[in-house]
Amino acid sequence: MSFISNFKEKLFFFKYELVKPGSRRYFDQLKKDQFLSPDEIEALNWKRTQAILKHAFEHVPYYRRRFAEIGCTPQDIRTPDDFIKFPVLTRQNLMENFDDLLADNVSLKDVKLSTTGGSSGTPAKVYHPKKEIRAANGWRMLGWWNISPAADCADVYRDVRTSMKARIMHFLQWFPTKQILLDATSFTEKDMRVFLDEFIRVRPEVLHGYVGAMDNLAEYVLQHDIQLPPPKVIWVTSAPITPVQQKKIETAFHAPVYDQYGCCEIYWLAAECPARNGLHMFYDTRRFEFLDDDNRPVPNGEYGNIAITDLQNFAFPLIRYLNGDRGRRLDKRCTCGCNLPLMDKVKGRVSETFTLPSKTRLNGEFLTTLFDNTPEAVKQFQVHQLADASIVVRVIPNDAYPNLDETLEHVRTALGNAVHHEVTVKMERVTEIPLQKGKMKFVISDYKA
Ligand SMILES: [Zn+2]
Repeated sequence: MSFISNFKEKLFFFKYELVKPGSRRYFDQLKKDQFLSPDEIEALNWKRTQAILKHAFEHVPYYRRRFAEIGCTPQDIRTPDDFIKFPVLTRQNLMENFDDLLADNVSLKDVKLSTTGGSSGTPAKVYHPKKEIRAANGWRMLGWWNISPAADCADVYRDVRTSMKARIMHFLQWFPTKQILLDATSFTEKDMRVFLDEFIRVRPEVLHGYVGAMDNLAEYVLQHDIQLPPPKVIWVTSAPITPVQQKKIETAFHAPVYDQYGCCEIYWLAAECPARNGLHMFYDTRRFEFLDDDNRPVPNGEYGNIAITDLQNFAFPLIRYLNGDRGRRLDKRCTCGCNLPLMDKVKGRVSETFTLPSKTRLNGEFLTTLFDNTPEAVKQFQVHQLADASIVVRVIPNDAYPNLDETLEHVRTALGNAVHHEVTVKMERVTEIPLQKGKMKFVISDYKA
């Protein structure tokens, strides 16, 4: 590490410690824990799960009620097998019991509210303790990519620094680390120009953002043959990315793309390391479960509804929280040395499952894999079930691909077979797929079964 970056990192932690004491020590601990053996990580996770259950029983009215309903206390939940008897928490449960989820030993002045807009269904809001050192999960992830927490960063993200006061506070908080921003919710060609000029001046080590908006930006960079100083890494957040999109973004910015998974309620969940064996779950700070529709665990390797227990947030505990995503645990160890367990990239949300008039359900995961055998054929695609239950597959074709007509017909036939020809399937070539708040939605359904 150079003298300047070393100095930047020291100053970064000095300032961070003023706001959140113990940050550096906590970060060092997380860095160590990732190299524990898989059994030790599991044991650490279970110990913390028991601690949050005990706390929830003693201090959180909502969970006290749930314990009473199943007629047990935390002492009765001795093993992970006992834990699966504890009720799951849905987004609807969360919203209906919002006030009762705040721990009674926490004052409102010590917590911060974060809300999600609800572009993916029901809106949600949660409290986080102001002193919680959530970001340490992200610092450790940056370490996998050989990046310092204090590195300069370019964000293509929704603008959270709207007021002048927020901008000044942000600047003071991060100085001397530079952060440049392109608001992913909507941007013009001029905005892109301004951002790219800043990018050339600042030379950020990290480019971070939503897949859909990054894809548009990469397209612009390639079309105008803009040469940029390569960042060390490109980090995309919380959206399925097609192989064509990944290649385009890597070509435009000359750096590898890695995937990070999170949700608004629990931002840091999992991320990909350079070995690309899947995403390491942040398993020492979150408990992960993959459940069937009756909330029973599915075997490793099979897709299930993701349920997360946040082991860091004692102010507003989320226990067995179904965040609406589907995913699967991978039954293998990574070659990078980190022993945090692996999960596959998250391909679809539960809400994106299609229902046919016969009540047959078509999984979001399947729909996102339509072009897996011919990833070069399309630049982007979207599967839309219309209000009359028929399906339209919109594609932005890759004109350089030789067998395009054949591939599209093949996909149409495969999808037609999958829905047993119950509804019509139409392929539609388009030049653009509109983003929703900077995010690209792969699968949309307007059919009310
Ligand atoms: Zn790894």
